[in-house]
Amino acid sequence: MDFTTLTKDKIIEALSLEGLALQSLYDYAAKVKQRHVGNKVYYRGLIEYSNRCAKNCFYCGVRRDNKNVDRYTLEDREVVDAARLAHKKQFGSLVLQSGERSDDYFVEKVAFLLREIKRETLGALHVTLSMGEQSEATFKLWRESGAHRYLLRIEASNPELYKKLHPNNDLHSFDKRIEALELLRKTGYQVGTGVMIGLPFQSLSDLADDLLFIKKMDVDMVGMGPYVEHEATPLFRYKDQLLPKEKRFELSMKMVALLRIMMPTINMAATTAMQTLHPQGRERALKIGANVIMPNLTPLKYREGYLLYDNKPNLHEETDVSLEKLKHSIEQAGCVLALDEWGDAKHFRERG
Ligand code: SAM
Ligand code: SF4
Repeated sequence: MDFTTLTKDKIIEALSLEGLALQSLYDYAAKVKQRHVGNKVYYRGLIEYSNRCAKNCFYCGVRRDNKNVDRYTLEDREVVDAARLAHKKQFGSLVLQSGERSDDYFVEKVAFLLREIKRETLGALHVTLSMGEQSEATFKLWRESGAHRYLLRIEASNPELYKKLHPNNDLHSFDKRIEALELLRKTGYQVGTGVMIGLPFQSLSDLADDLLFIKKMDVDMVGMGPYVEHEATPLFRYKDQLLPKEKRFELSMKMVALLRIMMPTINMAATTAMQTLHPQGRERALKIGANVIMPNLTPLKYREGYLLYDNKPNLHEETDVSLEKLKHSIEQAGCVLALDEWGDAKHFRERG
């Protein structure tokens, strides 16, 4: 198959490839990656700041109505310590992620933490936020307080599918999510988005449209990975309709490879959900398109509280041990760890 012009029909055809033809897709994507972004891997230290969330997404384990979750928010000191650790380990970059809240206390607290991180690490770290939809004023405040990038997945770019994954109310509106993505660009962030792959009710045509949506949005960063079920969520009742885990992983690999061909200079994460479905999932994704990994720096005592889906890995492993293993497997994947670099996407730098 010729991968040079990826129309919707071609993408659907590529998402159905198997065997040797599939291997040729992976080989082609690996070459595109090598040519445009090389073999560097950037670390973003992940801080799962809080699992308190005002929303009720049908797929997510920390949704508001899941009463089995012990809710937590990190102490200020714990956030700053994690940032210091990232700096000490020469990561160059951090991601602060949490459930979605927009109350004044939370908004001010995040602004304060951004300033503290900057002060404590002398501005050495670039910070990505992933805290859901916010107002223009909030996005602006956080940008001015020190955040550089923002990750807001569209989750599913087909509005009909989006509706099946969320409650039907204003808090979960597809149009507002799109609007938030536009506001992020307007307020000066490097913008990231992404989708879940292998969702119930999702077709190959939806996934092809997802890739075309991401390209049209012209984002700098993408984090996309498999949907993984969580037993205490409404979507769990459709678990028998899902692709088997190996096939869901393979579909996610195809998506990563195709997007690298379609957007050769973006940054793309090898997600934890990939690792959940396959022990070497992240390393395999690095080989065929991804160039970012987000090692978890959340203090161990909170990790059980941030179970977005079942079987999430690295719940009990000390950071030093998992970092050592990760470094080894990145090298095995033929990649080189880029230390002390912000690692902005070439796509962003070229846009100016
Ligand atoms: N609350 C913010 C938001 O939703 O944008 C940021 C944190 S949220 C936990 C980060 C991402 O987790 C979501 O964008 C979603 O794609 C992913 N996620 C949630 N539940 C998932 C599941 N069951 N399987 C795979 N990914 C999931
Ligand atoms: Fe909350 Fe984000 Fe989970 Fe939705 S995906 S319930 S907004 S944490």
